[in-house]
Amino acid sequence: MNDDRKNFPAVFVSHGAPSLLLEGGPACGFLAALGPRLGRPKAVLCVSAHWETAAPEVSAAPRPDTVHDFYGFPRPLYEMRYPAPGAPALARRVKALLDAAGLGCAVDPDQGLDHGAWVPMKLMYPGADVPVLQLSIQHARGPAHHLALGRALAPLRGEGVLVLGSGSALHNLRELGRGDGPEPWAAAFARWLDRHAVLGDAEALVRYRDKAPSGARAHPRDEHFLPLLVALGAVQGGGTPPRGEVLYSGFTHGNLGMHAYAWT
Ligand code: ZN
Repeated sequence: MNDDRKNFPAVFVSHGAPSLLLEGGPACGFLAALGPRLGRPKAVLCVSAHWETAAPEVSAAPRPDTVHDFYGFPRPLYEMRYPAPGAPALARRVKALLDAAGLGCAVDPDQGLDHGAWVPMKLMYPGADVPVLQLSIQHARGPAHHLALGRALAPLRGEGVLVLGSGSALHNLRELGRGDGPEPWAAAFARWLDRHAVLGDAEALVRYRDKAPSGARAHPRDEHFLPLLVALGAVQGGGTPPRGEVLYSGFTHGNLGMHAYAWT
């Protein structure tokens, strides 16, 4: 996928439940194959649904901790570590880009890797030898703000950085565990999302709650959708219309969407 290492695609993945690492299955296998498929970036800038702040923040720890920010899962998950190095110099670059775009960005020297970052990274780059840092999301600022964050970060793709949004294509925890596959409403939302992701249709995706079938049911709260818009924005900023690709399409736990997309 990435013959020209100088211009990385921007990627969105669904990280599923933390127990994905123990459960295995097709979505797990997909993420394990994705790292080799993308190739090795100089660093990964991960935008996880699980780090929310009022204003943008970037993590700059040289050795970020593995944060076990979940409760009630099997003990082996709490013993897992992902000891990848951080990227303090890249954190300063992220801050400079967001400051220049008028979005602002604080640098957090202590923030570790939440499970939205380390679970997919552990599958994609199991050697933990690719530097990784995180950018927070701002739920209160809404979808268009996150597209703007991505646009400001577009130059990073030409600097060998993988911009990786990590959330969930469908994320309604009250709708989990019903049957083996998705219910019709969830399948219909996923089809809409696949189609508009391939088109790189930012206008529709920003307004997905109004435009998509069952948009508000698929995401009662926005936080697992917003990382997708940062990734898409990182390609929009390049000046040419984005080309989207469905990397993975599927569900776990009934209606939990595990879809993944790349834009170039
Ligand atoms: Zn999550």
